[in-house]
Amino acid sequence: MATVESQSSSPADAKNGNPVAHPANMAVSAVVGSAVAEGTAETVSADSAANHSPKKRGVPEGLWLKCPGCSASVYRKEVEGRLNVCPKCEYHFYVSATDRVAQVLDDGTFEMMNDQLRPTDPLQFADRRPYSQRLVAEQKRTGLTDAVLTGTGMIRARRVAFAVTDSAFIMGSMGSVVGERLARLIEHATKHNLPLIIISGSGGGARMHEGILSLMQMAKVSAALARYHSAGGLYISVLTNPTMGGVAASFASLGDLVFAEPKALIGFAGPRTIKATIGIELPEGFQTSEFLLEHGYIDRIVTRQNLKSEIARAIDYCGK
Ligand SMILES: [Zn+2]
Repeated sequence: MATVESQSSSPADAKNGNPVAHPANMAVSAVVGSAVAEGTAETVSADSAANHSPKKRGVPEGLWLKCPGCSASVYRKEVEGRLNVCPKCEYHFYVSATDRVAQVLDDGTFEMMNDQLRPTDPLQFADRRPYSQRLVAEQKRTGLTDAVLTGTGMIRARRVAFAVTDSAFIMGSMGSVVGERLARLIEHATKHNLPLIIISGSGGGARMHEGILSLMQMAKVSAALARYHSAGGLYISVLTNPTMGGVAASFASLGDLVFAEPKALIGFAGPRTIKATIGIELPEGFQTSEFLLEHGYIDRIVTRQNLKSEIARAIDYCGK
């Protein structure tokens, strides 16, 4: 296997990424070579820095905090009481995977699956620091073993297969473990005829630290979803800020229903990368939930307060 350099923009990324890519957002495929490789923490976080600073994730400590959406000083407890949504402008702050489980699933119903799968460092990859060390540091900082939690649970008493990625863990990027946990969850949902809910918060796309092994996850998870679809399953994909790169180009875009939180950044390459590559002004609101709803890429914008009810309603509506 070829050596993978941290800033390389290997054309192999484009070749491997495209067959499973959802077409609607792929007008930028000319730049995907750099997009997948760079679509990890550094590049995409820079693109999304305006509304999602990686240094100030979630609701910072302190009684008051400044909302990135409206710049108002808001009372932290009030924000937390509203599922981390600004009371003034409805800005949706970051939510950890663990909090998301608590917000969406009925109390105490989540049964985690495949947490025993742990990431390794098959390429002995190093960028600013060795990947093996980065993994340990991220696990310690986030309390997660990798960027996704998967399992089963109940949503308003409806049993579902459920997964959520956490953008705090290497930008929620999909490495081998994220892909394998998702594939196993989808297979479980297929076997037990469960509705499938995946909430994506993955600015990192495919995890470049695992090179081709992470790109392969796009195909693997997409294939599992195709079998789930053939078996008649209902898959609701929920996109949150940010959902980019190889995650947006695989499972996140393949929902029977695609929901998005308001004003989330959703796309493949970040707007800055695209603008720098093609050299033209991008339309206003490019790659936001609202823009993508208008252009038919997502089905509905759902606020965080309504998410649980809307998922339950969709399950009932689809007769699942
Ligand atoms: Zn606000």
